[in-house]
Amino acid sequence: MAEQPEKEPCVRCGHQPEKSDKYCVRCGAPLVNRCTKKRSPLHRGCSKVNKQDAAYCADCGEPTLFRESGLL
Ligand SMILES: [Zn+2]
Ligand SMILES: [Zn+2]
Repeated sequence: MAEQPEKEPCVRCGHQPEKSDKYCVRCGAPLVNRCTKKRSPLHRGCSKVNKQDAAYCADCGEPTLFRESGLL
């Protein structure tokens, strides 16, 4: 089985996170650029993980977590 690729470094401070980290332990920035679209009665929500430079979700066009957090 192929090894999982290394996680990208933190977009804010460049710290190299552990594979299981979801937030940077140095600066608290989110490390996984998930879509922020919430579940609602009309939509099942979107939890797509986008690339680190994606300000908007590639699937649904909602702002990504990085965008909402002011990282992009
Ligand atoms: Zn950081
Ligand atoms: Zn989305």
